[in-house]
Amino acid sequence: MSTVIVGGGITGLLLSYSLSDSLVVDFKGPKNSMASLWTIIPPLCGDLFGDCLRSEEIYSTLCNKLGVNFKKVNVIRSSEKKLGGKIIESKEIKELEPKVNLEYAELFDNGMFVEGPQIISSLTKDINMKKEMVKKIVFDNKSISYLETENGKIRADQYIFTLGYGIYELIKGLYNIDVNYFKGHLIITMKIGLKGILIVNDRIAVEGDNLYLNGDSKPQQDQSIDYEEISKTLKTFSNVIGPITDKLEVKVGFRTVVPTGPIVTRISDNAILVGGHKLGFALAPILVEKAISLLKG
Ligand SMILES: Cc1cc2nc3c(=O)[nH]c(=O)nc-3n(C[C@H](O)[C@H](O)[C@H](O)COP(=O)(O)OP(=O)(O)OC[C@H]3O[C@@H](n4cnc5c(N)ncnc54)[C@H](O)[C@@H]3O)c2cc1C
Repeated sequence: MSTVIVGGGITGLLLSYSLSDSLVVDFKGPKNSMASLWTIIPPLCGDLFGDCLRSEEIYSTLCNKLGVNFKKVNVIRSSEKKLGGKIIESKEIKELEPKVNLEYAELFDNGMFVEGPQIISSLTKDINMKKEMVKKIVFDNKSISYLETENGKIRADQYIFTLGYGIYELIKGLYNIDVNYFKGHLIITMKIGLKGILIVNDRIAVEGDNLYLNGDSKPQQDQSIDYEEISKTLKTFSNVIGPITDKLEVKVGFRTVVPTGPIVTRISDNAILVGGHKLGFALAPILVEKAISLLKG
């Protein structure tokens, strides 16, 4: 059975990895999934805490198989609103994170970071991919007949849409769905020797090949850099780990959020829609598992 996956972000790529012989159609490449922080932080997963823990296991197995760097790490969190972590003081914080200056913080032992660009590049290798934009979905009765792109028609037995930022544009008018978009910035800078995940108020820092910082999330759809947010993130971490000034790179990305929760649903007899959670990297393996069991009926 031929399968077309529209969207080559982390969700589409994990689906393609799990399904033999699929075609991925993505007009730009995984722009949003490349502007992620690639962390899984179960205490921030709310009701989906268990899913986030299971996702860590799936990513661990996959990263070991693909030779992708990842680390299971402590999460040190400083914020007024507590989430039930163990409270630790500066001496213990320094033992765990010598670069971090905080008087006290919450400690969780269940975070994970995956080197995002590595997993994306590894999953993209050897897959069947077309760089085209799907402009229209054409139906024949209750099934999709074909997809129209700027270069022609694409036909398959079944279609999976993992559109991230593109959900609303392509699906509107065909399927009734409420989608909100939240703009965020990934700041990439020089490593400082951070061992685990550090959360200060709503900002998050983690280190892999580089030091990565993020945390802002605003209901905006324009692609421009919001320098106020960049400066707020830098100031937050400068107060805790020292000044961050070297070789800054900033990427803008969007979280796609369906207010009722992440979706894995049939939108026609031969099509499934997948996505819609702000923690789309953390939950991708779980949504992919659900999509595959839905396909199998
Ligand atoms: C700054 C930032 C930090 C983040 N940090 C984390 C984090 O630490 N942990 C976490 O869990 N989540 C995080 N997120 C959220 C996470 O990155 C996203 O939820 C996740 O990457 C979404 O993946 P996806 O595959 O569903 O969608 P996307 O990555 O958005 O992929 C969808 C793809 O579909 C393609 N597409 C769309 N429409 C069409 C069309 N009509 N035709 C062809 N192709 C199309 C797009 O080009 C895109 O490549 C963060 C987000 C941001 C912005």
